[in-house]
Amino acid sequence: GRPAYKYPRVLLKISGEALQGKLGGGVDPGVLSHVAEEIAEAHRAGLQLAVVVGGGNYFRGASAPKGMDRAQADYVGMLATVMNALLLQGALEALGVDTRVQTAIEMREVAEPYIRRRAIRHLQENRVVIFGAGTGNPFFTTDTAAALRAAEMNADVFMKATKVDGVYDCDPMKHQHAKKYDKLSYRQVSVDNLQVMDETAITLCKENNIPVLVFNVMDRGNVVKAARGENVGTVVAS
Ligand code: UDP
Repeated sequence: GRPAYKYPRVLLKISGEALQGKLGGGVDPGVLSHVAEEIAEAHRAGLQLAVVVGGGNYFRGASAPKGMDRAQADYVGMLATVMNALLLQGALEALGVDTRVQTAIEMREVAEPYIRRRAIRHLQENRVVIFGAGTGNPFFTTDTAAALRAAEMNADVFMKATKVDGVYDCDPMKHQHAKKYDKLSYRQVSVDNLQVMDETAITLCKENNIPVLVFNVMDRGNVVKAARGENVGTVVAS
């Protein structure tokens, strides 16, 4: 039968920056196929997976040309996430994984519109669901979109895939003695201003009691290990 998981339904957030790898922008094909293989493995292992992709590798609303309306720039950012969603779908399909993309901004020629009940149905039918276009609203981030979708999907965990091993007390790239946390409370993240994700996203997870796991996607097998409850990064919970 199905192995027992601590977190059987996973919301996985992959930032655009992670997909970019060491490139200056766009998607690194090696990283894309690695991420797709990780998802495929987790899917084969019986996990239900919903994925939210960022778009920072293509465009961020915050880096809009001077004088441009922020909302306008944010729509460009949301469209950027759809490119990553389609690329990830393509990579997953090449591995034989059944997928659906749903977008928060309708573009019916390329993806389904976001419909909550239908997305849940896909998960139950063993399809990997990829959510694009964030929340569909400017002034939000894809981390917040991921927290929202996690709550809507009734996900057991929010896995934030990053290029680092977890949350540190200071930047591990700059400080040799940076200490990694195994566990943190939502409150500690906010009070100490630890760079996990924005306040809106953390608050949504806190209010819906969804644990947030920050881990390195580049290490093989981490998604499955984390779903079993193994300590692979930093867990933020109450
Ligand atoms: N964005 C938005 N609303 C959302 C999600 C995203 O307006 O609900 C825009 C915003 O401009 C953001 C961009 O899309 O900068 C790309 O998303 P994000 O920066 O969160 O991507 P990541 O950092 O995860 O790659």
